[in-house]
Amino acid sequence: MKNLKLLSAVPFVALILANTSPPVGVATDQTAQRNQAVAEALPIADQQDFEDARRGLLAQLETDILNEDGSVAWKIDEFDFLDGEAPPSANPSLWRQSQLSAIHGLFEVVPGLYQVRGYDLSVMTLIAGDSGWIVIDPLLSAAPARASLDLANKTLGEKPVVAVLFTHSHADHFGGVLGVTSREELQAGKVAIYAPYGFTKETVGESVLAGNAMSRRAQYQFGANVPSGAAGAVGVGLGPKLSAGSIGLLPPTRELSTDGETLDIDGITFEFVDAGQTEAPSEFVFYLPQFKAFHAAEVVTRVQHNILTPRGAIVRDSLQWSRKVDEFLSRFGDKSEVMLASHHWPTWGGDAVRDKLRNQRDTYRYIHDQTLRMANQGLTMDEIAEDIGEPDFAKTDFGVRGYYGTFEHNSKAVYQRYFGWWNAVPADYDPLPKVEEAAKWISALGGAEAALAQGQKAFEAGDYRWGARLLQTLVFAEPDNTDAKMWLASTYEQLGYQAEGGTWRNIYLSAALELRTPKENDSVNTVTASVLAALPTLDLFDALAARFNPAKMQGEGGILAFNFPDTEEEISVDLRQSVMFPRVGSADAPVVTLSIQRSDMNRLLAQETTLPELLGSGAATFEGDVTALGRMFGALDSQVPYFEIVTP
Ligand SMILES: [Zn+2]
Repeated sequence: MKNLKLLSAVPFVALILANTSPPVGVATDQTAQRNQAVAEALPIADQQDFEDARRGLLAQLETDILNEDGSVAWKIDEFDFLDGEAPPSANPSLWRQSQLSAIHGLFEVVPGLYQVRGYDLSVMTLIAGDSGWIVIDPLLSAAPARASLDLANKTLGEKPVVAVLFTHSHADHFGGVLGVTSREELQAGKVAIYAPYGFTKETVGESVLAGNAMSRRAQYQFGANVPSGAAGAVGVGLGPKLSAGSIGLLPPTRELSTDGETLDIDGITFEFVDAGQTEAPSEFVFYLPQFKAFHAAEVVTRVQHNILTPRGAIVRDSLQWSRKVDEFLSRFGDKSEVMLASHHWPTWGGDAVRDKLRNQRDTYRYIHDQTLRMANQGLTMDEIAEDIGEPDFAKTDFGVRGYYGTFEHNSKAVYQRYFGWWNAVPADYDPLPKVEEAAKWISALGGAEAALAQGQKAFEAGDYRWGARLLQTLVFAEPDNTDAKMWLASTYEQLGYQAEGGTWRNIYLSAALELRTPKENDSVNTVTASVLAALPTLDLFDALAARFNPAKMQGEGGILAFNFPDTEEEISVDLRQSVMFPRVGSADAPVVTLSIQRSDMNRLLAQETTLPELLGSGAATFEGDVTALGRMFGALDSQVPYFEIVTP
């Protein structure tokens, strides 16, 4: 009798819960309470940041920023909903950061030095030189960059752009360059472009070799498909959001050396310091003695940055990062009366600048040293992330809080840098793939119904981290289980509502969105012919090799030769076995030799033309067995911009 009762109890509970729908788009009591506790623990009402973020406002854009095709690149009132107190569906600390990031306009930092903020993820700085504008970091896409420049010209008087600086190799700092100048002006010598050491290699390398998967993952990090709103996307922490315009690139006139240089650019002195291998592999910062201003690029902003960005990147060096910030502090801390960056608003006053630099330095050092201290005590990556906590100064300096990077995931990055992905638990060295394991777990839990009941129970208890693990396992095991997907979506949503990290919120809300309404491919392909044009030819072939699928190689490959008459380069490609290996130089006994302009090769790979078209017009010619080319190109996987993340 007793046993019978027990047996019937489980399905009964499951039935009750399965009939309840999970809440959608509203904070639960547990989430509301947790967010309230954050508001009470932090000096949310402090107004200094708001005063600084509004200081020097000269003018604002009043209408949407449109792309050439009429589509909206930036919606001007998108973040108006942030006015007022944080709702229960948002972490009040992130809400505050989002309010600050959304403050927009043209601002005077000090006379002669200006910023346009709030019209993209990043910030554009303008300096009035002797003969025109020096533009630092022309945003992510052309239309916002052009609108920002127009606003400056209209407000401060029309000037030509005579120099552009790309502070580092991330697209939100160069992608809008065609909005402030043109290839023609560059070729005519009317504008000079300065970039840090290694800029071209790092820029293109990242976006071409791993770019497709990064773009898809970046949709989660930036909440690209999540509508803005109190129960949706509120900001990325680093800035409001990515603009939706066209991304371009012009090659730098000059890449600086790693030693640091002092240059006069249109009458303005720049003391450059190389800061590569910190926030980006290629980056510089600079001091402007005429303005007593230190521009920290993206090495020091008003967030804790990512040691490992969720979209994916090669893990960064937190120790080097903290040492570099210390170098800035010791070299420029006593001279600087203002510090500005390529995200967020400036810091005025020597004491405040020094405090900011010290806190940033100590944040990266804290993450580094505490991770290693605990690892050396035998803690695993997950345990360290749970225990790392935060240093005392993070309670008062919002600028080091985890709006973009967080102490939790950054400690995992440090662990990864030193120890790799394995936590030293042997069962984790060679586990079954997620989906295969999920089916076994669900079976071990007594089946889908029992697992769902446990997931719902976790939700009711506000135990969302556990609930997400359990329900995601169920969805991997049963991707068509709609109840499981809806409860998982609501679980992710509550995690998003509680998150202080803009990236975390976006990741969870993107997951919820895709579970509720699966979306078709709408990812932006970042690889255009103009981006490929900046890529050295061997790197271009390396990118092709990273798409080579041996299973698709039909018949004999042999050695293929490519001649580029316009760049006077030759590449041989060894395709004799399951690898595509490119080498600089001429080939011995190639099966085919293709002569093609490098510029046509870029267009071919950006799918702006086809090989038959180029051969037919005579733009490209070949000698030997042309079918070998067909076999090679036929064995390249096309990129899949949209791939499943929260379902198998
Ligand atoms: Zn940036």
